[in-house]
Amino acid sequence: MASKFDAPLPVAIEFDPDQIPTEAVPENFVSYTLKHQEARPPVTWSNWYREIHWPYLFIFCVLPMLAFIAAWSTPLRLETAIWFFIYIHLTGFGITAGYHRLWTHRAYKATKALEYTLAILGAGVVQGSIAWWARAHRAHHRYTDTDLDPYKAHKGLFYAHIGWLIVKPRRKPGPADVNDLRSNPVVIWQHKYYLRIAFIMAIVVPTAVSGYGWGDWRGGFVWAGLIRLAVGQHSTFCVNSICHWLGDKPYDDKLTPTDSLFSALLTLGEGYHNYHHQFPMDYRSGYKWHQYDPTKWFLWICEKLGFATHLKTFSDNEVQKGELTMQLKHLRHKQEALSWPAEKSDLPVTTWEDYQRQAESRALICIAGFIHDISDFFDKHPGGPHLLKKNIGKDVTTAFFGGLYDHSHAAHNLLAMKRVGILLGGAPHGLEERVVPPSQHLRITRHAELAGSGL
Ligand SMILES: [Zn+2]
Ligand SMILES: [Zn+2]
Repeated sequence: MASKFDAPLPVAIEFDPDQIPTEAVPENFVSYTLKHQEARPPVTWSNWYREIHWPYLFIFCVLPMLAFIAAWSTPLRLETAIWFFIYIHLTGFGITAGYHRLWTHRAYKATKALEYTLAILGAGVVQGSIAWWARAHRAHHRYTDTDLDPYKAHKGLFYAHIGWLIVKPRRKPGPADVNDLRSNPVVIWQHKYYLRIAFIMAIVVPTAVSGYGWGDWRGGFVWAGLIRLAVGQHSTFCVNSICHWLGDKPYDDKLTPTDSLFSALLTLGEGYHNYHHQFPMDYRSGYKWHQYDPTKWFLWICEKLGFATHLKTFSDNEVQKGELTMQLKHLRHKQEALSWPAEKSDLPVTTWEDYQRQAESRALICIAGFIHDISDFFDKHPGGPHLLKKNIGKDVTTAFFGGLYDHSHAAHNLLAMKRVGILLGGAPHGLEERVVPPSQHLRITRHAELAGSGL
């Protein structure tokens, strides 16, 4: 069925009308599609000029260069600089709060007044209509890091940033459900009049405000118009490139998205992208109150003013589970990098008589059911070597744990490293703190290991 979005977009961005009902998507949809869908031929020296999206190349690469050349000979007046700062934020919120968090992710509900405002402001950054943008971004979330992701990060920083726009994609993005947008009157209206709205908001408004306001027509056109446009566009592109490349993965490391303050500063707060990919319907990208996310603050203010309602947040409990999992994973790496005492099951079981006999030729002592070889420790023993020498071949459990001196946790940890055997029937029951060294009271164990141990 032909849709209102089937018409080619201004700036020649085609809206992909591909709609596959969810029930028709097989379980292995990605591999199935990649196997059965024909990809465009590779870009070569003989076909590259046919494979370039020339209008995009002009808008996203040539125009910014021309703007910077023009800016070189256009003085930046203070009033225009302030206007630039205000307008880049306003139009940027059209993308971050509008295109992204409202229409793509339905992270809150907006009044019609706010919807129209964001649709108009967002058009001022010339990134295609809401319909096209949200459809691609939903595919990005649904097929992240696969070949059905329109800006797959594994194809390189340049590709994820802008390459996917200026070179025709080898494949269609994976299908994503946009039926809600097809019936949204604001989205339909913006799509229909996109070119006019974009031109007015990108060029006419910034120039006119500056011109009528303080007589700086040229400065308004170059700085608040063209330079702001370039910066705003590349700010959004950073979400697809830098936010999948630079920073930490505090909530999950299965996929490429990352969190970083640097990216957040570049993208009006979208830089906490690891969080965003885990909890995409949260109205916040910066989950923690202090994280730099002006879009979240903007929406909070809109809520207080009554323009936005139902701001969605993910359960703190679930967010913290993700965070804890990653922290445990880091600690597990640290744990695995250290040497640990031999396991009980790896030690030979020795009778008391055998222990006595072996102690005649080796420096062995018995503590808490374990036999330890301390031959390399005499000179390092803080209490002096004589205490060790006189206890060779004996059971000094009581002396070690307070009878003579209540040894430190570090001493207990070190002692466990010297285990060479287990005394038959010698391990005390109910005295786990003596058998298990302090460094192993808390251990990170994988679920599969627990299952294997029968716990
Ligand atoms: Zn992403
Ligand atoms: Zn998103």
